[in-house]
Amino acid sequence: MVILENMAGWQGLAGSFFKGLNLAEEPFTLTGFTSGLFLCQSNLQWAVMASNPCEFCGTHSFMVHKAREMMFGFRDEMEYVECASCGSLKIAAIPQDLQRYYPADKYYSYKFKVSLRVHISRLALRAALRLPDSIQAAVPHGSLAQIRWLSLKRGMKILDVGSGSGAFIRHLRAAGFDDAVGIDPYLEEDILDNSGVAVRKAELGAMCGEWDRIMFHHSLEHTPNQLETLSLARARLSPRGICIIRIPIVNWAWKEYGTDWVQLDPPRHLCVHTEKSFRLAAAKSGLRVTRVQYDSTRFQFVGSELYRKGVPLRTGLAELDRHFTKAQLEAFERRAEELNRDGLGDQAVFFLEPDVVVRARTSAS
Ligand SMILES: [Zn+2]
Repeated sequence: MVILENMAGWQGLAGSFFKGLNLAEEPFTLTGFTSGLFLCQSNLQWAVMASNPCEFCGTHSFMVHKAREMMFGFRDEMEYVECASCGSLKIAAIPQDLQRYYPADKYYSYKFKVSLRVHISRLALRAALRLPDSIQAAVPHGSLAQIRWLSLKRGMKILDVGSGSGAFIRHLRAAGFDDAVGIDPYLEEDILDNSGVAVRKAELGAMCGEWDRIMFHHSLEHTPNQLETLSLARARLSPRGICIIRIPIVNWAWKEYGTDWVQLDPPRHLCVHTEKSFRLAAAKSGLRVTRVQYDSTRFQFVGSELYRKGVPLRTGLAELDRHFTKAQLEAFERRAEELNRDGLGDQAVFFLEPDVVVRARTSAS
């Protein structure tokens, strides 16, 4: 009965599920769950009252969804919990064999050398930039168009967290930003260029000094402990520094496609935010969002439509012409632009500043 009382505020699926539900007649079972969660299962959906609250908003009510790995077509089923209040989506349990879902021969130079069980936190910085070329071309993860958003000045110290092999950072260095550095703990070794170390085999916590720009280009969603990561970034920002974070956003595409939404990307995406939950996470980490720009693309349609048809991304993108007409693809692009204009796109770039700076500016104006 506690569960029903706490579900009162739920919307959508959960709301329709609980409407008219008679607990006495439904075949509920309580099931032990990882991290102290307790599940209430019915034939229709999973609902969960967690003993641990949502780390972003503090609610104890979640909805459980089952989603499949479809990028490579493993089709393994994973559970995600959707917070009933802030809408964040989090994997219920990180697979012990997560490395299986980053097949080494399909990533540019990636090899797991450490036990996942021991070093699970190192998964934090896995970047989507490691995707196979065919997928990376379709996923707008590493676009250099973002450079103009960075408001760069000569001499700035720039850190790209989860940089992969550092294609983006090397572009910046070639443009004269010698203090631009990428970090990625999964590199085999540091990557050097003519000016020194371009990409360090390191984690964010190991970086010293203050940075004028700290960037996460679609790497934060691969992070198991986002609050810790964001707090580390906050601690390493210079007083006037800016953190730029590009992430998928739970938005229109999630409502439309549900677990077929391509940017849920189970199990690689460990936690995916709504704009609301991300703002809460930032505030808890001493950061404040000063600007949001939605930058979703046709990918949300292409990938999700493929998944809806049961076609893995890797296969579908290799034969795009078979699945979509040119007119369809153009329509997807137009629709993505509309969604972005309305703040409904499925990914965004957030600009964050140390909270104290934001307060100082507000009081001065
Ligand atoms: Zn929440």
